[in-house]
Amino acid sequence: MAKRYGIREVFATLQGEGAQAGTPSVFLRFAGCNLGYDVCPWCDTDWVKAVYTEDVEGTLALVRQAADEGFGGERPGLLLVATGGEPSLQLDRPLSDALRARGYRISMESNGSRPVDRSLVDWLTISPKQAGFAQKEGDELKLLFSGTSAPGITPNVEAVRRIAEGTRFGHYFLQPIDIPGNGGPNYAETVRAVMELGPPWRLSVQTHKVMGIP
Ligand code: SF4
Repeated sequence: MAKRYGIREVFATLQGEGAQAGTPSVFLRFAGCNLGYDVCPWCDTDWVKAVYTEDVEGTLALVRQAADEGFGGERPGLLLVATGGEPSLQLDRPLSDALRARGYRISMESNGSRPVDRSLVDWLTISPKQAGFAQKEGDELKLLFSGTSAPGITPNVEAVRRIAEGTRFGHYFLQPIDIPGNGGPNYAETVRAVMELGPPWRLSVQTHKVMGIP
C-alpha cells in the first residue's frame, strides 16, 4: 500500500525568514512533531492534527492547487518549503523526487533532532530546540534567541556559541522569539546579542508577521 503523508496545510506565500526571505514559496506543513509543546512552549505552529492524509499524487495535487492560487500555476524554481511540525519525519525519496520532477527546489526547516538525508532537499535549515542535536551541518542554522524573555536553550551569547560549536552551516542566524502575550518579539536583546556575537551571525526577522502574510 502506498505511503500516505499527514499534512496540516499547504499554501503559497513568500518565505519570511532566514537567507531565503522574500522568495516565492509553497509551504507544505506536515503534521506531527517529535519534540512538542513541552519542549517548545512558545511554538507558533499548529501541527498536531493532520487535515489531509495523502499519497504522493494527492500531496502533489494539494501543492499544485496552492501554486495555482498563489502564483497562477507551478513554475520552475519555485521553492517548496517542507515544514511542520518536524518535516524530516515524513519527507521521503518518492515525494522528494516527485516534487523535483514538477520543478520545485525543496527547502526543509527541521529541528535537527534527528539526522536529515540532505540528498532529499536543496536547502536545509536547522533550528534546534535542544542543546544536544543531531544534524550539525546544512545551509543555515537558525537559533531562536530566548534571552531573558522566554524559557529556552539560548539565554545568552555564550549559550549561542556553545550550540554552534563544531557545526558547519553556510549561514548563521539569530531570530527573536515571538511569545504570545509578551508584547511582541524580543528584538532589542536579540539585536544586542547579534552585535556582540559578530560575524558570521546575522539577525533573522519573521518578515511575514511584519507584513501580515501567512
Ligand atoms: S520542534 Fe518546532 S514544530 Fe516542534 S514543537 Fe518545537 S517549535 Fe514547534
